[in-house]
Amino acid sequence: MVAHPLHPIGLKAQAVKFRALPPLSLYIHVPWCVRKCPYCDFNSHEARSGLLEQEYVAALIRDLELALPQIWGRKVYTVFIGGGTPSLLSAQAIEGVLAAVRMLLPLDVNAEITLEANPGTVEAERFAGYRNAGVNRLSLGIQSFSDAHLKALGRIHDAAEARRAVEIAQQHFDNINLDLMYGLPQQTVEDAARDVVTALGYAPQHLSCYHLTLEPNTLFHRHPPALPDEDASGEMQQRIEQLLAAHGYRHYETSAFAKPEKQSRHNLNYWQFGDYLGIGAGAHSKLSFPDKVVRQARHKQPQAYLDAVAQGLPVQAEHEIGGDDLAFEFMMNALRLTEGFDEALFAERTSLSLLVLRRELDEAGRRGLLLRDRSRIAPTELGKSFLNDLLQVFLPPEH
Ligand code: SF4
Repeated sequence: MVAHPLHPIGLKAQAVKFRALPPLSLYIHVPWCVRKCPYCDFNSHEARSGLLEQEYVAALIRDLELALPQIWGRKVYTVFIGGGTPSLLSAQAIEGVLAAVRMLLPLDVNAEITLEANPGTVEAERFAGYRNAGVNRLSLGIQSFSDAHLKALGRIHDAAEARRAVEIAQQHFDNINLDLMYGLPQQTVEDAARDVVTALGYAPQHLSCYHLTLEPNTLFHRHPPALPDEDASGEMQQRIEQLLAAHGYRHYETSAFAKPEKQSRHNLNYWQFGDYLGIGAGAHSKLSFPDKVVRQARHKQPQAYLDAVAQGLPVQAEHEIGGDDLAFEFMMNALRLTEGFDEALFAERTSLSLLVLRRELDEAGRRGLLLRDRSRIAPTELGKSFLNDLLQVFLPPEH
């Protein structure tokens, strides 16, 4: 056996042994959309023959019941209902799911409960119903306020519906995220800035600004549209960051910006390598036990998922995360945080000593990608700009 220069034999062979388990979140996936967007690689399926709403809600509740032994007694701090398009579900359906969550799990009294909504499916009455059901944070997939760019993205909503969705959402929710995308077909730097300025006009608590990427297995990947070049995209990113900073938003993660105290607690738990149980078609989980950490994936196709739940076996694949991967996965998440993490968090969330990454940390520091200041470890400006290079340093040798 030959030791990799950055991975001396033995260091990462440490056994996983938790004294306390990480905080736990719950993710609930809704796998249907009105239409599949050409850039989307999420587990979303066109609801051609309508929604199987009642069957799906019953399956989610059964799925949760089946998962209970794995999270027994653990409090849940955040719930995220994502998709797909969860706002295709009626308020009664969401109420049914959340009532079951409350009955089956110790849900923290101050739990953040987010629902993703598509501006093309917004109805005022439905939003009021979601609020009454206990949803206290709404995330709107706006993407752009320009008709031309929404059309280029294949979205089902137009600019007027985007505006109306924000206005209705603000009548019912005081904690709102707007998703925006930039680097869109034919988009100029001015166009991208205009979208952000329009969003700022609504003073949302949170903004997520994603660069459009051509993911494999999407229509855009097979037939790529003409996109702004790297320089233009870089300029867009800079303008967006400047505008948001000037309006009091903290850039706390690669694509996330928040007013003080309004970070997405659910997403922060992912980035801080907390645990999450994912229920619903294709949902992923990461769960820690006293002596191991496992990942699970549920059946992706809605009908296959429903059948699997009926047989009491919603989980399609499960594997244990080994020490090497655990350390890398922690870094892959935590280094997305612009302010990095406290050293102690590494041991809390992996149960390993940070010594297992001593050489990698030194290497990243030498290359100017990482900064260690007292107990804090954070990407430098260079590290943020070249995050993939930084993460590469921590990649276990067999990958
Ligand atoms: S609405 Fe969202 S989840 Fe649905 S296809 Fe479009 S991008 Fe994907």
